[in-house]
Amino acid sequence: MSQPIPVTRQTFDDVMVPNYAPAQMVPVRGEGSRMWDQEGREYVDFTGGIAVNALGHANPELVKVIEEQARKVWHIGNGYTNEPVLRLAKALTEATFADKAFFCNSGLEANEAALKLARRYAYDHAAERGGKEKSEIISFYNSFHGRSLFTVSVGGQAKYTEGFGPLPGGIMHLPYNDLATVEATLSDATAAVIVEPVQGEGGVLPADPDFLKGLRALCDKHGALLIFDEVQTGVGRTGTLYAYEQYGVTPDILTTAKALGNGYPIGGILTTSKIAASFSPGTHGCTYGGNPLATAVAGRVLELINTPETLNGVKLRHDYFIKGIEAINARHGVFADVRGMGLLIGAVLKPAFAGRAKDIVAEAEKNGLMLLVAGGDVVRFAPSLNIPFADIDAGLASLDKAVAAVAATAKAA
Ligand SMILES: *Cc1c(COP(=O)(O)O)cnc(C)c1O
Repeated sequence: MSQPIPVTRQTFDDVMVPNYAPAQMVPVRGEGSRMWDQEGREYVDFTGGIAVNALGHANPELVKVIEEQARKVWHIGNGYTNEPVLRLAKALTEATFADKAFFCNSGLEANEAALKLARRYAYDHAAERGGKEKSEIISFYNSFHGRSLFTVSVGGQAKYTEGFGPLPGGIMHLPYNDLATVEATLSDATAAVIVEPVQGEGGVLPADPDFLKGLRALCDKHGALLIFDEVQTGVGRTGTLYAYEQYGVTPDILTTAKALGNGYPIGGILTTSKIAASFSPGTHGCTYGGNPLATAVAGRVLELINTPETLNGVKLRHDYFIKGIEAINARHGVFADVRGMGLLIGAVLKPAFAGRAKDIVAEAEKNGLMLLVAGGDVVRFAPSLNIPFADIDAGLASLDKAVAAVAATAKAA
């Protein structure tokens, strides 16, 4: 066997398209919520691979599943169905409001499918409203739905579409948590409303329960479909399998990805039989979507997460994190608010520290902690759902040092 090609962080700058600005250290190995870099330095991981590694790194149960499935069949194409995909679809439809599932490889693909399905459903039912046009999509500022041209246009952050036009049309953006504006805007021409129950990338901002209930009522009134983007909030992240359960609001289409494969790429949509019927053979597809390797992993992920032990554990860890972050804030006074649901938590910086979330993340790295931002002003926590309490303690001790360092520079300035 030949020697591996020598690589360092510098190699990224040399040979990678510069659309990311990764940390200086290069992780090479993980176990649970601990990681090690090329130099053998150890880190506590509060990022969970951006809300993906819900059961930790190198989870032995998942290693076993992927090894077993890899020896049977990885991929066969959608000219055939397969046992793991059918088991996954059965499990997901039994565990949720949905009758039907469709699988793809990522969050954006799930949202792309959901938005296309909503438009196609409106088109298929045009006769029932005398052929009147119904294609408009309502979305919210600061939302994030992925990076394809359609999903990035539906997303509510102008900086992500700048320079990529012409953009797809028929998309409107309204303020999040502002039901009155939606009421004034949503009409019979609206095909769908898409919303994150907790805005993730947009700053870990939970929806008001009345906002989601109001969206449901307005969609029903005007025959529009309500799409919940649960790509980040789904698969146990908020303490229930999906966040819609806690809000008591059932969407027409739900999109899921991130944690579903614990890092093996998979995304999907869940919907009702009536709506699913608009994706008849040939209308939509995805080569890798629902392949046996991805769905075998996801099936086991679902079994392990959708248990009272794991979901209650999320709630216990939520309280533990909030207490810990608030204690740190009592010492250093940098955060104006600590918010979120389950293990999707955001610590919002005070105006005096605006734009400095990335500095806290950089200081955390020096102190052996992997951490996320959500925009310039929010430090985001999305650890594994099963992170040991001892690892939370160790990570919070590093966070305390990182916050102290940033608070000190502000005082010096
Ligand atoms: C991450 C994310 C996406 C995009 O998922 P990809 O797998 O990167 O395409 C979409 N919606 C939400 C809410 C997300 O957090």
